[in-house]
Amino acid sequence: MHCPYCGYPESRVIDSRDVDDGIRRRRSCLSCGRRFTTYERVQRASLLVIKKDGRREEFNREKLLNGIRKACEKRPLAGEVLERLVDEIETDLYQLGQVEIPSRIIGDMAMARLKRLDHIAYIRFASVYREFADITMLKEEVDSLLNKGGEVLPDQLPLFPPDDGAGRGRKLGTVP
Ligand SMILES: [Zn+2]
Repeated sequence: MHCPYCGYPESRVIDSRDVDDGIRRRRSCLSCGRRFTTYERVQRASLLVIKKDGRREEFNREKLLNGIRKACEKRPLAGEVLERLVDEIETDLYQLGQVEIPSRIIGDMAMARLKRLDHIAYIRFASVYREFADITMLKEEVDSLLNKGGEVLPDQLPLFPPDDGAGRGRKLGTVP
């Protein structure tokens, strides 16, 4: 750490304190005696997402959060729940210890969590990520959800609103 005034390579730390995501150090140059400040921050390893067409792009937390928010629109899920969900995914991704990760893995991580959280949000998200080709594939996914009712958390919302008497419940085609 060279002194910004005289370029001398050694300095003495006279004060050190934690700031947001790092440490701020006040230093005194051992040659000219002038004081300057340095910051030390943890640098996260960069994470590349391999897209379907093979292109790479930097992992973008906001993009993932936006996709999940969209799937959760008008669902009774607090914003902080979604933030936490993305935090978990981000942590898991870094723990994989890989520099490049296929976008599908990230989609699967998001789907697995949404599935436990809210069925409607899950189906919406899955239909974008898995690109359900037709209503049959969508129906299969919904059926598999209904069949695995045991995995659902007790506070899980019903997949479809109760029959309001206007018909025999809602049809699959109304799921966005
Ligand atoms: Zn100096």
